[in-house]
Amino acid sequence: MNLILLGPPGAGKGTQAKLLIKRFQIPQISTGDILRAAVSEMTPMGVKAKGYMESGALVPDEVVVGIVRERLEKNDCLNGFILDGFPRTVAQADALKHMLVCMNMSIEHVVSMAVDKEELLQRITGRRTCRLCGKGYHVVFDPPSVSGRCDECSGELFQRDDDQEETMRKRLDVYEDQTAPLITYYENESLLRSIAGVGSIDDIQQRILSIIQGTHG
Ligand code: AMP
Repeated sequence: MNLILLGPPGAGKGTQAKLLIKRFQIPQISTGDILRAAVSEMTPMGVKAKGYMESGALVPDEVVVGIVRERLEKNDCLNGFILDGFPRTVAQADALKHMLVCMNMSIEHVVSMAVDKEELLQRITGRRTCRLCGKGYHVVFDPPSVSGRCDECSGELFQRDDDQEETMRKRLDVYEDQTAPLITYYENESLLRSIAGVGSIDDIQQRILSIIQGTHG
């Protein structure tokens, strides 16, 4: 099963991808996660990406296309993969199409998750992550039992720099300008499946599963 999760920041792509990879035992390829790891390890790519990410802009296409190409070549992608946060521009979608042809692979579904802007802002600005184990929380919708500490490992919870409100507004504008055109792009490829990205995490997962199970029983 080769799947793309498409949607604005805060739509829940990462949350849904994590549930899907458990169920189907296939990898999640999150360009955001890969870039954040590169930034914290201060690799040459991370140093290059840092400024773009902090300002809410997109990292140049050639950088992310290179990341995805390298990742898709690994053996664990042979049984399927979930792309989360890629592609984000038409140029990235074109590059993906070409690399998949060369690898003899194809995308089966592009699941577009729709959430309105005010809800996205509320979700993202309240988002917190554990520094030690990476578990996600929300200060209102999913708070930890002890404020600022992870329930699983007591690690410190932090807010991503690019989740601050001003940067978040910029990221939403970038999404509208550069990523939303992919909805039409994938509609034209007959791959687009749209769902409402609101409701409980389980409800949203069920919507995605019913799309996947249309072809995977
Ligand atoms: P995310 O965690 O997916 O919201 O990504 C965080 C940040 O990483 C984005 O705001 C971009 O700066 C960068 N990024 C992640 N994926 C891409 C991509 N496909 N193209 C360009 N920049 C990306």
